[in-house]
Amino acid sequence: MKALVFNGPKDLRYEYFDDPKISQDRNLIIQVQKCSICGSDLHMYHGDRIGPYDYSKPMDHFCTGHETIGEVVEVGKGVTTHKVGDRVLVAGGSGCGKCKRCLRGEINLCEGNSRGQGSTAYGISPALNGGHAEYMEVPFADTGAAKIPDGVTDEQAILLTDALGTGYYGVKMANVKPGDSVAVIGQGPVGLMAAEAAMAVGASRVYGIDMQESRRNLTTKFGGIPLTPDEALERIMHDTNCIGVDAVIEAVGVGPTLKQAALMLRWGGSMSILGILQKGTEMPLQIMQGKCLRVHAGIAGIADLWDELIPLVQGGRIKGEGVFTHHFSLSEGAEAFRLFEAREDGVIKTMITP
Ligand SMILES: [Zn+2]
Ligand SMILES: [Zn+2]
Repeated sequence: MKALVFNGPKDLRYEYFDDPKISQDRNLIIQVQKCSICGSDLHMYHGDRIGPYDYSKPMDHFCTGHETIGEVVEVGKGVTTHKVGDRVLVAGGSGCGKCKRCLRGEINLCEGNSRGQGSTAYGISPALNGGHAEYMEVPFADTGAAKIPDGVTDEQAILLTDALGTGYYGVKMANVKPGDSVAVIGQGPVGLMAAEAAMAVGASRVYGIDMQESRRNLTTKFGGIPLTPDEALERIMHDTNCIGVDAVIEAVGVGPTLKQAALMLRWGGSMSILGILQKGTEMPLQIMQGKCLRVHAGIAGIADLWDELIPLVQGGRIKGEGVFTHHFSLSEGAEAFRLFEAREDGVIKTMITP
């Protein structure tokens, strides 16, 4: 098959790659219909790190992409919920679905995954090839894939594979309750989805903070309050009588924004960190302790969240409108990454279609 293959930082090539085969009974193969690029893919592109993977070092080649929808073309004997011809959305990371953690609804903490602990993400290492390809193997498909339901568009289905799931996870981990005031730092796709999800679960007010105007414009679509990083802290303190917001979702992952998050929270407020942290990222520990903050950093177990999220999308409470700004064919994948990384042309999110 043809695929977009990681050959090294800034070196993605559209080239031939081995066709995926069913390696275990509980797996299936999809013909990929769409697969977008995630902001976290840029760490790979830049030669930084994601979890255990250090992209500045040589590694075996693999197909990128972890936000995938497609049509089932082959099903392993142990798969019970999918059949050939189904259109499915695939969670960005896979868990075994059978261990204690998976059964508790904590796929991200999976203990039984043959590829190691924690869920295994597609398309960020040779451990699991991604969906920037014509075909993709889906491990543990009963858990990690869901039929695309009625009333959910392809774009929304793609958002459910990662950005929306991750944003919503940030909302949950920041303990957002009805009536809360919330700030989301970073209005890239994940931050936008976090902000929209916070509104959907009843936040009274959601600030969306970003440097880029095109992103801030999307914040207003679901009733969020757009702010630039320079004005954010002063405005939030003004609006809250110098108390601060109840919850912050940090969707950037660098020292200055983490500090800003701690400063704009009320005492005893909650912060969840969704941005992928790099080695040596500075944490504002003294502020966190002094203000008795709750802080959660983690990676979402996407499939665990679908029971709550899919109805919110079907019911029109979360729309994800305007997030996909650019469309490319698979053969143009390298250009899609280049444009996304350069933030050219007001890009928010890029879709790739094989
Ligand atoms: Zn992602
Ligand atoms: Zn498991």
